[in-house]
Amino acid sequence: MANPVSMPLEEYQAKRDFLRTPEPEGRVDQEEGVFVVQEHHASHLHYDFRFELGGVLKSWAVPKGVPEQPNVKRLAVETEDHPLQYGGFEGTIPEGEYGAGTVRIWDKGRRTVLERGPDRYVLELTGTRLTGRYALIRFKGKENKAKNWLIMKLSPSQRDRAKALAPSQGNEKDQKNER
Ligand code: MN
Repeated sequence: MANPVSMPLEEYQAKRDFLRTPEPEGRVDQEEGVFVVQEHHASHLHYDFRFELGGVLKSWAVPKGVPEQPNVKRLAVETEDHPLQYGGFEGTIPEGEYGAGTVRIWDKGRRTVLERGPDRYVLELTGTRLTGRYALIRFKGKENKAKNWLIMKLSPSQRDRAKALAPSQGNEKDQKNER
């Protein structure tokens, strides 16, 4: 947790002595919450990865699915926050409606947020299919790519150096490496 990107309150907290000031110390949310992956048979099959943060489900559409093995990088396109209740949704969205098609839960479980920054998250997932440590890293680059992220499972040797996974590494070269 030495990476300053992972400590959004670090500067705030460093400036204050909370034994002396009545201001709230605040802390990054590291409590347990849920995650879910929904298999969505829309016009193009994709998998919606969502996890609880700040009372909503942060959401990404992952065309090729969330990898179950380390070192497989998958494109994850950020989508709008969804309500927590959506994590339990399975059913068929009618034709003509946004996201028309069937949705079923592919996996669900608990998540712990280990790192949180504007361009990256590291999560510990405890699901049925997905377990272990996952990183979400936003692509750097053109504005129209800002919603493009990578999702990957970290191998044990990567867990302490996730910041080495710079977004700039996550371009076509890596996508070709997908298995
Ligand atoms: Mn979807």
